[in-house]
Amino acid sequence: VIAIEGVTVRFGGTEALRDVTLHVNAGEFCALVGPSGSGKSTLMKLVNRLVVPSAGAVRVRGRDVGQEAAPVLRRSIGYAMQSVGLFPHRTVADNIGTVPRLLGWDAARIARRVEELLALLRLDPGMATRLPRALSGGQAQRVGIARALAADPDILLMDEPFGAVDPITRRELRAEMRRIHAETGKTILLVTHDPEEALELATHVVVLRDGRIEADGAPAELVAPDAAPFVRDLLGGGQ
Ligand code: ATP
Ligand code: MG
Repeated sequence: VIAIEGVTVRFGGTEALRDVTLHVNAGEFCALVGPSGSGKSTLMKLVNRLVVPSAGAVRVRGRDVGQEAAPVLRRSIGYAMQSVGLFPHRTVADNIGTVPRLLGWDAARIARRVEELLALLRLDPGMATRLPRALSGGQAQRVGIARALAADPDILLMDEPFGAVDPITRRELRAEMRRIHAETGKTILLVTHDPEEALELATHVVVLRDGRIEADGAPAELVAPDAAPFVRDLLGGGQ
């Protein structure tokens, strides 16, 4: 459902991605791992065209993303960004309702969905009327995830979504992601620094190093004794 073909991305003099080819099938849970600066966020942003390739092609659901209007594309792909990026002057409820509003849902339906998502992400219902500045880092991240899930997109991009969340909630959210994936068959791309999270959740792990794909396969393959040492070290394999 996602096809990235021979993509290079240059930012001025930096090559953030070099000739990357990656195919993600519908329903896969794909984890992107790699050191800081290796190109994980850049790779993810190709899918919703927040980054445009310098060379190569990106297709989503069989269509070149450059041929589709960016707002239409983005409405159909949930995105929980690394920097959270909530709209600061909108309440939590309005932030979560962003895509449903664009899709023309009526107010009652949006309110029900907001309530559902707050419960799912273990946020107090009273938070609906708060502004983002009155949230903790972990709460803001969870609102960012709720916003990404709001219109039930079949493709979800999640860039380090649990970074600022405490370990217990993180474990709960991880279980929740596994459930969402199992029950809805969504295609999920997750950037994570947590090898345990990658190995536990993903059906497909992609290891980036200096803008190139170093390894790409099922979790078990990447921690196997014959896997590249860089990959096994990164994933804590061989233990
Ligand atoms: P992290 O784990 O720290 O989030 P990452 O793997 O997500 O890292 P990217 O954000 O994809 O890394 O960045 C890859 C490279 O591209 C880095 O060298 C970064 O400085 C550079 N880069 C990313 N976005 C831009 C931009 N908009 N302008 C210039 N350089 C950029
Ligand atoms: Mg990043």
